[in-house]
Amino acid sequence: MQAASTHSIWQKDIMYLKKVGPKRAEALWEACRIKTYEDLLHYYPRKYVDRSRVAKITELDGSEPSVSLVGKLTRLELVKTKRGKNRLAGTFTDGSGFLELTWFQGIKWIQQSLKVGEELAIFGKVNRYGGSLQMTHPEIDRLSQNSETRHTGQIVPFYASNEKLSRLGLDSRGFRTLMAQLLQEARNMIAETLNPQLMQEQGLVSRALALQAIHFPQNFGQLRQAKDRLKFEEFFFFELMLALRRMHARVQNQAPPFGQIGEHFHQFFEEHMPFELTGAQKRVLKEIRKDLAQPVQMNRLIQGDVGSGKTMVAFMSMLMAKDNGYQCALMAPTAILATQHYKKLTRMAEKVGMTTTLLVGGQKKKERTQVLESIASGETDIAIGTHALIEDTVQFEKLGLVIVDEQHKFGVKQRARLWSKANPFPHNMVMTATPIPRTLAMTLYGDVDVSVIDELPPGRQPIQTMVHRESKRLEVFGFIRREIEAGRQAYVVYPLVEESEKLDYLAAVKGFELLERHFQPFRVGIVHGKMKPDDKEIEMQRFVKNETQILVSTTVIEVGVDVPNATIMLIENAERFGLSQLHQLRGRVGRGGGKSYCVLMAGKKLSEEGKIRLKAMKESTDGFNLSEIDLKLRGPGDFLGTRQSGLPEFRVANLVDDQEILKRARDAAFDLAEKDPDLSAPEQAAIRRFYVQYARKNGKLGTVA
Ligand code: ADP
Ligand code: MG
Repeated sequence: MQAASTHSIWQKDIMYLKKVGPKRAEALWEACRIKTYEDLLHYYPRKYVDRSRVAKITELDGSEPSVSLVGKLTRLELVKTKRGKNRLAGTFTDGSGFLELTWFQGIKWIQQSLKVGEELAIFGKVNRYGGSLQMTHPEIDRLSQNSETRHTGQIVPFYASNEKLSRLGLDSRGFRTLMAQLLQEARNMIAETLNPQLMQEQGLVSRALALQAIHFPQNFGQLRQAKDRLKFEEFFFFELMLALRRMHARVQNQAPPFGQIGEHFHQFFEEHMPFELTGAQKRVLKEIRKDLAQPVQMNRLIQGDVGSGKTMVAFMSMLMAKDNGYQCALMAPTAILATQHYKKLTRMAEKVGMTTTLLVGGQKKKERTQVLESIASGETDIAIGTHALIEDTVQFEKLGLVIVDEQHKFGVKQRARLWSKANPFPHNMVMTATPIPRTLAMTLYGDVDVSVIDELPPGRQPIQTMVHRESKRLEVFGFIRREIEAGRQAYVVYPLVEESEKLDYLAAVKGFELLERHFQPFRVGIVHGKMKPDDKEIEMQRFVKNETQILVSTTVIEVGVDVPNATIMLIENAERFGLSQLHQLRGRVGRGGGKSYCVLMAGKKLSEEGKIRLKAMKESTDGFNLSEIDLKLRGPGDFLGTRQSGLPEFRVANLVDDQEILKRARDAAFDLAEKDPDLSAPEQAAIRRFYVQYARKNGKLGTVA
């Protein structure tokens, strides 16, 4: 993603670099996607080793971290292990003592390339086995083979390589040689991409120095400066793109200003408000109101934990639309959820004489026609539905506000199709209960405003979370029975089994049968992905009415249903769920029906990460806190689910670890975008030149021609 400079040398085919040639060029492309000089320049070391300090074998006891040693092999031979496999064993000495070396993999290759008596620098972790010191799969530099000091005696870079590349001489050592060659040829042509003032303000070294030092640092201080500079640059241009896009959007998308707060809003607020809004709800409403009053499209993401009261915030925004003569649309990811919204909103809307309609798949033709007519004529104030709302047959009389619940389930394109049903565009609001860490939200939604409802309505009792192993199952069941005998209800959730709907279904059905037997005379219901929506709805209703006391399900209850009397959430094989999913599930209880519990049953195979996740669930009930932990555990890519996240690939920078730099880069980028949205001032020439390339390369709309 980092274009190096505009100078053409960087676009030169890597084949032409000294010591490369066509064969290696092909291998470099295949293994590392290195095609040009520029690509090679940005092929950064995967680690650095301080070889300026060489240890002595006699001084080691096996407790130290990795060490460098210089010496030679006195023995190298193939040994059969007890299980009949081969391993390669060697003895290494530096004159002060002896060390056993062992290889289990790549034996043939090592055997071919190492000779007894040859001078080597080795690096790795020493362990003590019985009386002897031992190192497995050491990293090796053959000193006698090269006279250059680049490979040892200083901070040495290590590059990712593979066997094929190694055979062509492109192991870490080979890469070092190429990098030195590249920098020697082209160092003077590394163009600066930032301006001097910004660099000074931010305490950044030049780009040329940074790129030299990231490959061949003279010391760790210099390496750190190099990384800081490159991280800043990566974040800066990404944020600049977001900033400029946002400016662009501001200018482009007109929307109707909702200038007045009128009778519907006032009437509801004064006569029908069932509770006092929380501070967070008030604050977010204020933010929304300010946006809606503008003649430009609102683009606001409302993040709020399960139960934080997003529905009321949505409804009050709808009242503002109504007071200004506009219709609203609310889109939910499933029919169950849409229906639930419809019921809730209808109850509130009726109080102030507003009309609602529901549009979901599977409605009778006659009903559907009526709904469509009602929306088209403007009789409907609030149209609620699934993505059925997007279809071309749906026409609004005067659509002014679109609200989407659960943003992850809808693509940007789908949302944009809803917008196109109005001219000018409607205001746009997205509600999500999946908390995205603040820092990530800030980065991801640089072109969207984010509001956070970070407070739960008062009087909620915290949910108590327990983690249990199989051995405690009878106790857990006993506990559930007592709760049910006291009039409560319970959910029991089974995880997806290896992404297979069939197995998933089987596990739930088996569980259902077990529970039915165990909990007699109480009744157990089941919902799963294979059921028809109508049947699901019937089962859910039975649970809502307390005709069943236990509801077994696969993850379908993840979003939506609200049964205050349910106070237990039992999750089987809880380690198979992601943190945010667990948190969502837990949010199904503790909805006003008294003290609630979440029981996480841990399976037999519990990984370290699984343990951390379950522990986090036990210790925290804060969705944002949990999402931060989740992000740390999984990394941004997995967390957001693939490349669709809209994030570029950061080479040096890390969204989790480098938040301080991210913040600085973001502030600087947004400042600049504000001050000089065309990047036309002469002192911005370097930034502008690079930005144009960057925006093109990242396939996003660049607002600078
Ligand atoms: P979510 O953010 O998960 O969509 P809801 O909007 O469904 O949450 O609200 C959860 C519950 O809390 C609902 O029963 C709602 O009526 C109630 N609620 C919302 N706001 C408040 C408040 N300020 N005070 C008391 N109860 C509230
Ligand atoms: Mg909700």
